[in-house]
Amino acid sequence: MPSYTRLVNKSHPLDPDYIPCDLTEAQIPFQAAPGDPKRLLRARAAQAAQELFQRARHMRLQLSGVSGYRSYKRQEEIYRQSDSGLVAPPGCSEHQTGLALDVSCAAVNYELEESFALTREGKFLADYGPMYGFILRYPKGKEKITGYAWEPWHIRYVTKTLSLYLSLINLTLEEYYQL
Ligand SMILES: [Zn+2]
Repeated sequence: MPSYTRLVNKSHPLDPDYIPCDLTEAQIPFQAAPGDPKRLLRARAAQAAQELFQRARHMRLQLSGVSGYRSYKRQEEIYRQSDSGLVAPPGCSEHQTGLALDVSCAAVNYELEESFALTREGKFLADYGPMYGFILRYPKGKEKITGYAWEPWHIRYVTKTLSLYLSLINLTLEEYYQL
């Protein structure tokens, strides 16, 4: 079982047969029906997401999950069907770790688009995610380092210790492993 802090990107792919053994359905509002594998996260990430979403609720914000776990096979299908070059090749998507979650809100019709960053929910996610173990994995201005476009909706669980550290000094996971 790879660790919570493992680096996964285009040059550090996961094995095709890697499936986390502790996947569980996060008890959060979701843009997918119960039973859909998109709702799955590894147990610790699911628990952290529940706490983060609960904090949002207390602040009268309505976050919704859009996509969590994605199998190698599913990523392969999405990759084959896309021609934009923006989709991660199979094995290179963090969603296969069960530690990544795409989040959106009603103000942007639950779409995954840059304008999410301007919503109250988007700002909450950036500000409060690190207190619960999540980082915004593909920040603006770090596209060349991460190899991915800015994605203000994609959070990655890396443990609270590491998320606080990375957000405090504004480092991506790639930069952390190069220190
Ligand atoms: Zn994502």
